[in-house]
Amino acid sequence: MIVEFYGVRGSAPTPGQQTVKYGGNTPCTYIESSKGDTLVLDSGTGIVGLGQRLIKEEKDIYILLTHNHWDHIQGFPFFAPIYQFNRNIHIYVPPTDPPLYEAILKQMEHPFFPVPHDELHANVKIHGLVDHEPTMKLCNFSIATKRLNHPNGGYAYRIENKEGSIGYIVDNELDPPYEKATTWEEWVDFLQGVDIMIHDAQYTQDEMPHKHGWGHSLIEDVVQLAKEARVGTLILFSHDPARSDEQVDELVRNLRKRTYDFRIIAAREGMCLSQP
Ligand SMILES: [Zn+2]
Repeated sequence: MIVEFYGVRGSAPTPGQQTVKYGGNTPCTYIESSKGDTLVLDSGTGIVGLGQRLIKEEKDIYILLTHNHWDHIQGFPFFAPIYQFNRNIHIYVPPTDPPLYEAILKQMEHPFFPVPHDELHANVKIHGLVDHEPTMKLCNFSIATKRLNHPNGGYAYRIENKEGSIGYIVDNELDPPYEKATTWEEWVDFLQGVDIMIHDAQYTQDEMPHKHGWGHSLIEDVVQLAKEARVGTLILFSHDPARSDEQVDELVRNLRKRTYDFRIIAAREGMCLSQP
């Protein structure tokens, strides 16, 4: 199984000289099994680059959204396969508060975008997910869901096949000031033994007091969760828009001064991980 990162930045796109190394595109991750089964996770601006690759392939496209916040859907109007004839695109959307499964298409209505979704050439189908559904099968991946601690809700995913397992948890606040949709113990259980844990790690200790309740996690909490869940590799994801490459490097350097039983890597656009 291969995991490729096309967008790793939280909240807002941040192109510029300070973000050349880790990238400024908002979330999009691509998973491919050795048998060619594929999944797209989120549709931030990172999906634009992925689209340039996928237009050359003929297979159906499956997109799994974590939630409808704009930084997770804003790349879709510029995703080239939606303008191709005979292209099937399936989009899986969790329930949010308020519910709006079609948000990714609604953002294309006039006057926000010149091409409304009903004029797209591709066959785009929205599939609404519901709470308490048993583990679903999608493209030969087994996928379990867990509710995010995040304003307006959303889902985290645990994606597995015979080759390995991936936890994808963005955006999520492990210790929010409001009632938790998922407790610490439930996260530890949900992610137990996962090979690769991709988790929101947007804030430092200094920043958190001002941003408590915004729906993103403290980096130290994420590291502790990785430890208790006995993950293989922790990928720090959703870098803060104000975080420069140098600052991300420094964060990782400081974390690696301690010893862990797992690898810690900061997600970077263009990075590709192989599992196993
Ligand atoms: Zn969000």
